[in-house]
Amino acid sequence: MRTPGYAYCYPCQEHQTESGGLLADVVVPISYSPRIGQHHHHLRSYKATPPSMQARWNLLALLLLFLRDHLDCVGDRMGGAPTHVVTVPSTRGRPGPHVLETLMRTHTPLPWLSAVPNPRYGPEARSFHADWFAVGQIDRSAPARPLILDDTWTTGSRAQSLAYALKRAGARSVGVVVLGRHVRPEHEASRPLLSAIQEPIFDPSVCAVQR
Ligand SMILES: [Zn+2]
Repeated sequence: MRTPGYAYCYPCQEHQTESGGLLADVVVPISYSPRIGQHHHHLRSYKATPPSMQARWNLLALLLLFLRDHLDCVGDRMGGAPTHVVTVPSTRGRPGPHVLETLMRTHTPLPWLSAVPNPRYGPEARSFHADWFAVGQIDRSAPARPLILDDTWTTGSRAQSLAYALKRAGARSVGVVVLGRHVRPEHEASRPLLSAIQEPIFDPSVCAVQR
């Protein structure tokens, strides 16, 4: 595991253009997740069939510790503490709530929002889509700042499409916390990053916002 050196996954030009700038205000990966590493293995196996319960408890513990110590850092970039929680729904047609929601439900007092994926876009979709997720109207009588919890950030198109839907539904700001920022070792552009994070140092006392 490695602590990321940045808080913002700068939206690619495509996300920025397609969304008209309605994207997440802050994206905070808890750790990098190279495809060959243990963290990646946990992120795959915690929602496999059957799931690895060890991976589930490991990831839940990591997320709870991170939120305890760094939720204020995330809130600083959202203009205030998060008011709601939401997960990115499965685009693989898995029924029921997202595993992260099931794990986290009893650990947060914040109300959960739900999002419904557009069946037009399958798990292979990799681009921003304004109509990817449908979210019910959010009460605007007080500023709403939903926090998206997700397991893996690859291109960011799913989380950013959800952030867009949340803002269209009335959210004042949107934050994203992801357990792992996926890194593909065979990807040419990942090489400098992989060599920069070669030392396997994960310091839970520091988050990407503070860096
Ligand atoms: Zn922090």
